[in-house]
Amino acid sequence: IQWFPGHMLETKNQLKSAIARVDALLEVVDARLPLASSNPFLERIATGKNRMKLLNKADIADPEATQAWLEYFNRDIKWPAAAICATRPQEVSHALESLVSQVDRNKARKAKVMVVGIPNTGKSTILNTLAGRKVAKTGNVPAVTRHQQRTSLKDNIDIYDTPGILWPVIEPRHRGLVLAVSGAISDTAVDYHELAHFAAQLLLERYPACLIERYPFLNPLPGQAQALIETVGKARGCLKKGGHVDFQKASQLIIRDLRSGRLGRISFETPKDINVDDDTDQ
Ligand code: GDP
Repeated sequence: IQWFPGHMLETKNQLKSAIARVDALLEVVDARLPLASSNPFLERIATGKNRMKLLNKADIADPEATQAWLEYFNRDIKWPAAAICATRPQEVSHALESLVSQVDRNKARKAKVMVVGIPNTGKSTILNTLAGRKVAKTGNVPAVTRHQQRTSLKDNIDIYDTPGILWPVIEPRHRGLVLAVSGAISDTAVDYHELAHFAAQLLLERYPACLIERYPFLNPLPGQAQALIETVGKARGCLKKGGHVDFQKASQLIIRDLRSGRLGRISFETPKDINVDDDTDQ
């Protein structure tokens, strides 16, 4: 979906007033890219609110990186975090309970909790798990404004979904690449060759064992991203006329394997990647 200044302003206003009406915020991010899948605007308007960052899809993220992220977010207790898998009811309920326990309320009053996050982080799946039935459509719904839905849970908790769609922030470049490689934004938002190189470099530097396991023909492991793509292309028959490697096809194959988890549990960023310039004001 294309973001125009008008959309953005409307969404910002909707979000602000929706947040003011609830007791607590459950921000859902992708555990493989907890920073790139956060939106700094939310951070600013949610100060002083009871809140929790849910590092979702922890089942397909690198456990070591997830642990480092949990330590990072929980360090100043500014934005407490928990790692979960959206389809495991115990993990999701436990996180919600710990958030609601911070809300200062008379138990007779319902606690109002809003689930927020950029598309594709798993908000609908989490809502469905909490409700124990299908209350939200999973998959990306490309609409700017929609009706805010409320679901009543046991224990006197009302859950609200986001009134609009929280936009991903694709600047600076590194953030855009991380989002695209995870599939959170469309590949067309970035240059495909750059994306493939980024993916190949990440795998070579951080997950060589995963590469060898999935692509046993990579022996010895190439040193360069380009050589990696080429070798995979040759071995997997991604060829053009004349026997030349079809780089586009080979790149797609690697990125598909990476996103689907076939290359193992991989995270696309760790706290070590944090760049001070990454504090974009969007
Ligand atoms: P939303 O756009 O934030 O509402 O995200 P969805 O709930 O529609 O989920 C987006 C995609 O991620 C779907 O294909 C889900 O099946 C998948 N997904 C959601 N949560 C998890 C999770 O914890 N683990 C894994 N492996 N996939 C998940």
